[in-house]
Amino acid sequence: MEEDRFSCVESPAICLRPSYDDILMLWLTAILAAHDTVAQKNFDPVLPPLPDEVDDELEEESVKIVRLVKNKEPLGATIRRDEVTGAVLVARIMRGGAADRSGLVHVGDELREVNGNLIIHKRPDEISQILSQSQGSITLKIIPAVAEEYRLKESKVYLRALFDYTPFEDKATPCQEAGLPFKRGDILQVVSQDDATWWQAKRVGDSNLRAALIPSTQFQERNLHSPHTPSLLTLPLSPSGLRRSFCLSRKDRQGSPGEPRIPDSALLDFLIYEEVTRYQPHPSERPRLVVLIGSLGARINELKQKVIAENPCHFGVAVPHTTRAKKSHEREGVEYNFITKQAFEADIQSNIFIEYGEYKDHFYGTSLEAIRSVLDRNKICLVDVQPEALKILWTAEFKPYVIFVKPRIHESHCKRHGSSSSLSVGITEEDLQEMRQSAVLMGERYGHLVDRVLVKEDLASACVELRDILQRVETEVHWVPIGWARTT
Ligand code: 5GP
Repeated sequence: MEEDRFSCVESPAICLRPSYDDILMLWLTAILAAHDTVAQKNFDPVLPPLPDEVDDELEEESVKIVRLVKNKEPLGATIRRDEVTGAVLVARIMRGGAADRSGLVHVGDELREVNGNLIIHKRPDEISQILSQSQGSITLKIIPAVAEEYRLKESKVYLRALFDYTPFEDKATPCQEAGLPFKRGDILQVVSQDDATWWQAKRVGDSNLRAALIPSTQFQERNLHSPHTPSLLTLPLSPSGLRRSFCLSRKDRQGSPGEPRIPDSALLDFLIYEEVTRYQPHPSERPRLVVLIGSLGARINELKQKVIAENPCHFGVAVPHTTRAKKSHEREGVEYNFITKQAFEADIQSNIFIEYGEYKDHFYGTSLEAIRSVLDRNKICLVDVQPEALKILWTAEFKPYVIFVKPRIHESHCKRHGSSSSLSVGITEEDLQEMRQSAVLMGERYGHLVDRVLVKEDLASACVELRDILQRVETEVHWVPIGWARTT
């Protein structure tokens, strides 16, 4: 790619200063707003006059002369050499950057001179040096691009990043300095998708108004499939290596359900970006479903039960189905929905369960209808599931808010056991190692679906934190997949 070789010639210390009128405006504003600035004579440098002589050839091509004044801000543009003509062209203008704000430099403009030096035969590093060494003002001679298609179109697309990106480790980027580093889970506002391979984006929440480059979905997909890149699509994870007793999050679920019905790969496709939008819960709508997933030792069922028991009018639990006999103290539809084995098997065939399993020759399972019936009563429904169940719950109907609970494991836990931690006394270093591993693997595999991580120190403090999260889910604006937004 030509651009690769000629990119990053933007000076880190140059800003565009378009006209005397603009400077006058700035001064007037400054005078009105801040007498002290004026009193200290803290003005920007005065621009020298524009050069009188413009060579004939350039005149014929309607040359534009742009005067820049140095500042700490970068110019916010990259250049490339045209493969056919050899001309040095402006490749990109970063949204919100100095070049963009000036409105005087555009993508496709041909750069002829920098401070009177012809640059057509110069190497990119030489051009870069001229730009960075210029003090005070800098003059560019430009042949403006004619085509309107070069103008950047405004786009307001928000994406949740599903992978970490470090431009300085990316050999494919056209300009490492112009890249936007981000972490999985960051929300990116994409301001330009004009280029098929490199989009321009800002991180939501950043005070920096300048856009920077991120790989497009298409480009990243190609990268992921390259034999040299470790693929996110093949993340190694299976909890099967973990001891069974720790695989089941419920205290006494050993030997019960467990085998996920959903192929794991379904949750791992396209880990690049997800288009999102802001979602404000509305009292007229059903509450969002709250899904707890937990790594080994998190004991999320206990946490869920405690929060629900503290305020049963506000929170509800989906009543499971079982094929075992009703005990004397139990009531139909309260502890369980009691059904026959045949009925349960028919329900499995009809896919009514988000998860089910077998324990002591009896089936147990939670149905979608059980969840709906809690939400229909306008209660917050908390479910604790194996993360595979998210595939079924990941719908506009449920708008799941996913909380990943993992136990806090102190380095010296074995020595300190019995302290405030909720982990059991007598737990071995091997157990702790499995728990750590489980949390890491679960984070790697399902982190992109998680809205919030709750590190559980002990049951009481985790309850306080969970209640606070639940209150925010009900009242605050959150980012959700674009398809979940209200269509009315
Ligand atoms: P019990 O018969 O003593 O009420 O419950 C026996 C086992 O079934 C417990 O380990 C309990 O956690 C598990 N269990 C209860 N409800 C469900 C459910 O909806 N799904 C699954 N997979 N297991 C459940």
